[in-house]
Amino acid sequence: MEAADLLSIVCAIKEQSIDCVLMIKCATRRVVRNLTVNSKSNYDNGWFGNPNAPLYRTIICLLRARQAKTYIQYVPIHSHALMKNVHKLAKSAADKRQEDNIDLTYPADFDVPGMSLKHLTQSRAYKYIKSLKRVKDRTSTVTNLDRARYANGEISGPIPRDYQLWKSIRTKDVRRPIRDFLWRAMHSTYKVGRYWSHVKDKEHWAICPICQCDESMEHILTECPGNGQETIWALARDFWKNKHPYWPKPSLGSILSCTSTSFGGTSKRTRATNRMYRILIAESAHLIWKLRCKHIFNTATPTQPPTDAEVRHKWNHAMEQRMRLDFHMSHKHLTTKSLPMKLVAKTWSHTPLESAFQSLRSDEQSGVLVGRGNIDRPPDHSQQDYGDLPSPTQL
Ligand SMILES: [Zn+2]
Repeated sequence: MEAADLLSIVCAIKEQSIDCVLMIKCATRRVVRNLTVNSKSNYDNGWFGNPNAPLYRTIICLLRARQAKTYIQYVPIHSHALMKNVHKLAKSAADKRQEDNIDLTYPADFDVPGMSLKHLTQSRAYKYIKSLKRVKDRTSTVTNLDRARYANGEISGPIPRDYQLWKSIRTKDVRRPIRDFLWRAMHSTYKVGRYWSHVKDKEHWAICPICQCDESMEHILTECPGNGQETIWALARDFWKNKHPYWPKPSLGSILSCTSTSFGGTSKRTRATNRMYRILIAESAHLIWKLRCKHIFNTATPTQPPTDAEVRHKWNHAMEQRMRLDFHMSHKHLTTKSLPMKLVAKTWSHTPLESAFQSLRSDEQSGVLVGRGNIDRPPDHSQQDYGDLPSPTQL
């Protein structure tokens, strides 16, 4: 959106004569501020860290080359009839199948590249030097990103960009251990399958102990017939069926991209549905991984799969605990960090845990103490009765 605004401004400046007064109306406040009040500081910093830096530099040079005055005004998109027409034109432009060739040349005499030494700080210089070092992309990461992007595109429609996937993995809707799990799974840093095929005397660890085939994260999460993943995904599907009619078949790509999956629309109900989906998929996938690790490392017979009852119990417990966490996170005493109660209630509505969630709410409203209070709390040493022991001053 910001890049589109900047391209429009480049075209507007180039179409007008340099000795004509020009009025530019823009609906993006950030663009207006970057080109007006913040332009000097941005230019001194060399537009460092701004993804649209080349476009901003082009505009600044074109503005410097002008002989008449140029005004840039912020106009909210719905405040002016003219802006509504602009919005319609932008929508029609978005449907174009071929990109326009926009002339981005600018008079180089007005450009001063790089950062201003006068305003350069050690911190900024260090960040700039670090940014020059390109980190080579890992092959497995690129492969997983592609799988996640296209799996997400099949469910949500538009195929997300890589940075959108990385950003979505940091969502607070998913617990921190699961965020770490998704991040590491995306990078294929877990030591499973092919990793062990090159380790001396550990080659057999590359084989799934249950079904004796090549192990991989995809095999563990979606293919292994004996590690309980089939039961967990069946439970998740039943949990989901009253929430939304469409249940995407779990795959490695759809699991890795679950935090950016959208079922269309921007309404509050859709937001809650998307939130429920990412919680459900992330919790289920993480539980499969935990059960697999527990079974391999903590049991005497790793070739024996976990029982169906054990898997069901663990999954039901995990989802109930997640619902309780959501409920407690919506308490008002958390002030700015609390989750909106309406969003949380909508998230768990039309699910088997809806009645449990409502009973938690009604218990709290009627004054019934929810939880076990000080049972899990560490002892309060300030109130501890030391009996006949001498006080520290007497020792
Ligand atoms: Zn297996």
